[in-house]
Amino acid sequence: MVNQKIAAKFKTFSTSLKCPLCQESLDLVQYKSLLCPNRHTYDISKHGYVNMLNHSAKSRYSKTLYKAREKIIMESELFDPLHDKISAVIHDYFAHSSTPSLMLDAGCGEGSHLKKILEKSGIGTMTGVGVDISKAGIEQAAKNYKNELWLVGDLAKSPLADQSFNMILNLFSPSNYREFKRILTSKGIIIKAVPRSGHLKEMRNSFYGSNENNLYKNDEVVSLFRKHFTLTDTIHVTDVRKMDESKLPYLVRMSPLSWDSNQAAIHSFIGRNSGHVTLDADILIGINK
Ligand SMILES: [Zn+2]
Repeated sequence: MVNQKIAAKFKTFSTSLKCPLCQESLDLVQYKSLLCPNRHTYDISKHGYVNMLNHSAKSRYSKTLYKAREKIIMESELFDPLHDKISAVIHDYFAHSSTPSLMLDAGCGEGSHLKKILEKSGIGTMTGVGVDISKAGIEQAAKNYKNELWLVGDLAKSPLADQSFNMILNLFSPSNYREFKRILTSKGIIIKAVPRSGHLKEMRNSFYGSNENNLYKNDEVVSLFRKHFTLTDTIHVTDVRKMDESKLPYLVRMSPLSWDSNQAAIHSFIGRNSGHVTLDADILIGINK
């Protein structure tokens, strides 16, 4: 049984979506499915998300990883400085707007970043839409957060209509700038977060030793970003937090860094770390050209 409130939300925003197979528009039928004129059908799942992938994507991003990610984002303060800065930017752009607006989180994972940022921005007229290729991530997001729209989808063949989003968030996640430009309104805002060299350095040092560097070089990212968008600001956020020891295993589990590390390195990080963890990122803010 599809939740009627969620179905109503999909009805309201169906014009912002499109069929990823034939690019036609979608309508909500019988309060349970999105249907295009060529009869491609996408059902609202019982958890309240819509799967718009036409194939199943293999991913190493598992339920365990997403549970850990939710725990760190929602219950530790690690990402608070990032959320605060981004929310302040969104507030500046949208606080005086009385018209409804849509914000996409492209590569939202289990949705906690989007949830936190929407809450902190406090823009009552803004609705969040999270898209990720991982069904495990979107299912968790839809179970936890009922005010947003959640879609399993491929950003390269996205189920989103032209010029339908006022804002795109793209946090620590790959970009598809051509798609982002297409779905953003003219003068729409994009906020992209990329890690800097100090990001989670305590964990990386434990896994790889302290000699590795150049892992995160943002010059190329910035220059590619500027090709597509007018870069209006770059905000550098750096912060060191003491993390409760009970949360460190979750930090390890949420990170793809741990995939290639042996168990001994992981245990040594959790065991000997003083509990300090560094957040170090650049936030790029751009306007659609
Ligand atoms: Zn279709």
